[in-house]
Amino acid sequence: MATQRIVVIGAGFGGLATAIRLAACGHRVTVLEKRDQPGGRAYVYRQDGFTFDGGPTVITAPWLLGNLFALAGQEMEDHVRLVPVDPFYRIFFPDGTHFDYSGDAARMEAEIRRLGADEPDVAGYREFLRRSERIFAKGFTELATAPFLSWRDMARVAPDLIRLESFRTVYGFVARHVRDEKLRQVLSFHPLLVGGNPFQTTSIYALIHYLEREWGVWYAMGGTGAVVAALVRLLETLGGTLRLDTEVAQILTGSGRATGVRLTSGEELAADVVVCNADVAGAYAWLLPQAARGRPIGRRPERMRHAMSLAVIYFGTDRLYRGGDGPALAHHDIILGPRYEELLRDIFTRKILTDDFSLYLHMPTLTDPALAPPGCEAFYALIPAPHLGGQTDWARQAKPFRDRVMRFLEDHYLPGLSRHLVTERMIDPRHFRETLNSHLGSAFSIEPILTQSAWFRPHNRAPDLPNLYFVGAGTHPGAGLPGVLSSAVIADDLIAGVAG
Ligand SMILES: Cc1cc2nc3c(=O)[nH]c(=O)nc-3n(C[C@H](O)[C@H](O)[C@H](O)COP(=O)(O)OP(=O)(O)OC[C@H]3O[C@@H](n4cnc5c(N)ncnc54)[C@H](O)[C@@H]3O)c2cc1C
Repeated sequence: MATQRIVVIGAGFGGLATAIRLAACGHRVTVLEKRDQPGGRAYVYRQDGFTFDGGPTVITAPWLLGNLFALAGQEMEDHVRLVPVDPFYRIFFPDGTHFDYSGDAARMEAEIRRLGADEPDVAGYREFLRRSERIFAKGFTELATAPFLSWRDMARVAPDLIRLESFRTVYGFVARHVRDEKLRQVLSFHPLLVGGNPFQTTSIYALIHYLEREWGVWYAMGGTGAVVAALVRLLETLGGTLRLDTEVAQILTGSGRATGVRLTSGEELAADVVVCNADVAGAYAWLLPQAARGRPIGRRPERMRHAMSLAVIYFGTDRLYRGGDGPALAHHDIILGPRYEELLRDIFTRKILTDDFSLYLHMPTLTDPALAPPGCEAFYALIPAPHLGGQTDWARQAKPFRDRVMRFLEDHYLPGLSRHLVTERMIDPRHFRETLNSHLGSAFSIEPILTQSAWFRPHNRAPDLPNLYFVGAGTHPGAGLPGVLSSAVIADDLIAGVAG
């Protein structure tokens, strides 16, 4: 195929992976990133001797990253050291009990019994696992890298999706197999990792359970930022260019094609192909000229339902927390509050910030002490929150919310936290809207419900502009590293003409 000039807007995982794939094919690729560092949601904050991964911490399906290095004839292991995380998650309940979630069926069954669930629930778990394997085989292995550009693609898989009961929600699917409410929560929280409400997300997302079991949960030594840095080096080795502090103001179009981009500086870059990794709804609303916006899927992306947002508090302490005077924490801790379904309804449907919360606590220094000075611990607390479509006034409410979360952690998990806090930073939904250009400040873009999945999701190629491609969380197949890395495979195949 002839060498093309390709511009990629955004250096998130989806943009970098697409750029690497296209550079490996010999194209002249330039990635334009508005921020001063690559990574997008995987931005790295370094302060006071601490290193905080801004976003993704759970690495799954690592071979998707390995494949990128293989394109340059390299081994990922020579650039990034991934180590397994075990347990995958420690899930704490409000009554002080916890569940160690792992990829080992025997240990999972022992944990289910320790939780107090009965034998029918153990058998129900086995059946859930069998079915999640079937969903995985279809939903991930077969469909994650299949382009859904035409309704015919959807019609072809519809019978399978019905057979797999994808019209059920993840919670509904889990509830058919187990009765214990705590166990239902343990087996249904996964959609939250990609911004979905387990009570509304299609049960196709039950495949995450099997995906983690199949390929494990990994941590990159040095943090996820070490993966981003390695991908940028890989891109440059392949001849690609990354321009930081470079914001695209508009995708230029003419004669029914994308012709390049105009930067906020006024500079114009001509291109044969434009790949957009910026939030797809934001791109349709702000980057495409009015006349070229079209209706990519019958609906404009900015009119679709958007996933939840987040507040994330990154903080470091000048003491270690290794379980002596509080609960023993794991690398990934999920701390559930007293309400599950109702709290999620408040976040996703009522869009209100409530006094109670559930949170994910990241404690990477358990695996990688080098992320903090000696004798110190690095954390982040990630709290699901409504996106900016609600009434929350974050300018007023961020500080009291932060105080509630930190007090809760001090009272229940991190004794003496306020005395030992030595560094801190917080982001909230405004960060996703203003810094990352995401519509409504959603942390995960378009919500993963059935009517917004596969063909119903923004396509990886713009229907009206045949040389404009979309990759990243808001496109097919969806958010999360395996999803956005798969969207890069699709865009690469479409550009090469081997798909679509
Ligand atoms: C706090 C948090 C934790 C997460 N944890 C996990 C996890 O543990 N595991 C997991 O698999 N997933 C996780 N996710 C989800 C995952 O991080 C995202 O789905 C994924 O990283 C999104 O990648 P993307 O390719 O869509 O690009 P993004 O990361 O969204 O990057 C898009 C880039 O485009 C840039 N951009 C936007 N507009 C312009 C413009 N006009 N000009 C130039 N550049 C522009 C932005 O600055 C940004 O750098 C997490 C997400 C968050 C927010």
